Amino acid sequence: MNDNGKAREVINDGQGLETLIATAAPVQPLTIAGTSIFPGKRLKIEIPVARLPTGTTLSLPVTVIHGKEAGPCLWLSAAIHGDELNGVEIIRRLVNPLKPSQLRGTLIAVPVVNIFGLLEQSRYLPDRRDLNRAFPGSLRGSLAARLAALLMREIVGHCHLGIDLHTAAIHRINWPQIRADLDDLTTYALAKAFGAPILIHSGVRDGSLRQAAAQRGIPTLLYEAGEALRFDEMAIQRGMEGIQRVMITLKMLQLDVPNSVPVPLETRTTKWIRASRGGLWHREVHLGQRLMLRQRLGFVADAFGDHRVEIRSPVAGMVIGHSQNPLVHQGDALVHVAQLTDS
Ligand SMILES: [Zn+2]
Repeated sequence: MNDNGKAREVINDGQGLETLIATAAPVQPLTIAGTSIFPGKRLKIEIPVARLPTGTTLSLPVTVIHGKEAGPCLWLSAAIHGDELNGVEIIRRLVNPLKPSQLRGTLIAVPVVNIFGLLEQSRYLPDRRDLNRAFPGSLRGSLAARLAALLMREIVGHCHLGIDLHTAAIHRINWPQIRADLDDLTTYALAKAFGAPILIHSGVRDGSLRQAAAQRGIPTLLYEAGEALRFDEMAIQRGMEGIQRVMITLKMLQLDVPNSVPVPLETRTTKWIRASRGGLWHREVHLGQRLMLRQRLGFVADAFGDHRVEIRSPVAGMVIGHSQNPLVHQGDALVHVAQLTDS
């Protein structure tokens, strides 16, 4: 715990955003990894993580913008999966022009959490562990556990809320979506403020950053958009504007951002539709498309177009993700559908 710990305890009392705004930490120097950042300052810190087998020291790059006026402390994290790059760019565009004088409260940005995975263009750590299953971690555990524990201690431990940025896994693409615990009133209000096209209620997964933060009473949004190892302009823009809308809602920023976004759709159930045979997948639906019950999503056939099997949606809803790879084995995930009762 830290100086802000006391303020955090009352965030999830059901009063929603007003409580979060009102419980802003008093302005005082913030110390991260032994470096103090004074109010009104912006600083880039390199937190040492580990020494590579080559002897090179690897460090976690962090930018801190510490406003002069008291306000919430927000962390932004990206590339917890090392090949998910949209969030890195979202953070760059958002943080670069931001001055401490424009900010009420504090922004802590970690654009590349899984520095090992980024180097390897891989989702995982060198030992094939998934960092987002290693939280809250341990400073004496595996590499994943150590990195997770470092992030919890040096970043999350200072914050009142967080936004974790992801894309789909390799060979898949996601429609911009917020995954969060919509049963938590504060988290729900923040998710709506973000303004992504769809909100997906997601019970926290074991070992995720979101779960570890939630256990400390810190509301966390997970933004998913685009695909691994690609920049996607729409996904980046929607993500940047969403974060800005959250910050404006919390009175951290005053900016002109498109506020007239449609009210997000909400769902509690999503389903991957899978290939009933192997072959080449011919997709006929697109991201964000509304689907009727039994609507055709495409077909799988052999290389000559024979032995064709139509794939239909067993639920009404919306396409929130799909495979990008036409080559499929039986059972492979093809289309991710959010179930919507009003479709
Ligand atoms: Zn991810």
